[in-house]
Amino acid sequence: MILILLGPPGAGKGTQAKLLAREYGIPHISTGDMFRDHKARGTELGKKIQAIMDAGGLVTDDVTNALVKDRLGRPDVGPGFILDGYPRTTAQAEYLEALLQSMGRHIDRVLSYEVAEELVVERISGRRSCPKCGAVYHVSANPPRAPGVCDREGAALVQRDDDRPENVKKRMQEYADKTWPLKRFYQERGKVAEIEGVGTPDGILAATKLALGAAR
Ligand code: AMP
Repeated sequence: MILILLGPPGAGKGTQAKLLAREYGIPHISTGDMFRDHKARGTELGKKIQAIMDAGGLVTDDVTNALVKDRLGRPDVGPGFILDGYPRTTAQAEYLEALLQSMGRHIDRVLSYEVAEELVVERISGRRSCPKCGAVYHVSANPPRAPGVCDREGAALVQRDDDRPENVKKRMQEYADKTWPLKRFYQERGKVAEIEGVGTPDGILAATKLALGAAR
């Protein structure tokens, strides 16, 4: 099963992707996580993309496509995979289409998480994560037991640079300009299932599974 998760930053794609990956036993591929990992490790790629990412801009299509091509060359994608945060531009979607075709595979479903802009801004600004284990919290909606401290690791939680208010605006603009048109791109191919991205993670997962069941 090959799934793509679409939706604005803060729509809960990462949370759903993790739950779906566990549910179906297939890898969760997040280009954002892969880029953050390069940044944290200080690789050549990490240094190259740091400034763009921190400012909330998009990494170039060539760099992103190459990263995805490499990832989809690994054997664990055999049973399927979940793409979260990719594609984000029409050029990336076209590249992916050709890449999958060359692999003799195709996208099963594009899950479009629908959330009002005010709500995503609120979600993003309260988001905090653990630098050690990657667990994600929200200061009010999903707080850790002790404020600012990871339940599992005891590490001080941090805010992603691109989640700072000055960068959130830029990310929302990039989404509106470049990623929003992808919904139409996939609608034209009959792939889109819309899901109300409001509620608890488990409730949204149930809606997602219903949409997948109805579609398959
Ligand atoms: P995310 O965690 O998906 O919100 O991604 C965080 C950041 O990584 C984005 O704001 C971009 O700077 C970069 N990024 C992730 N995925 C892509 C992509 N498909 N194309 C370009 N840049 C990306």
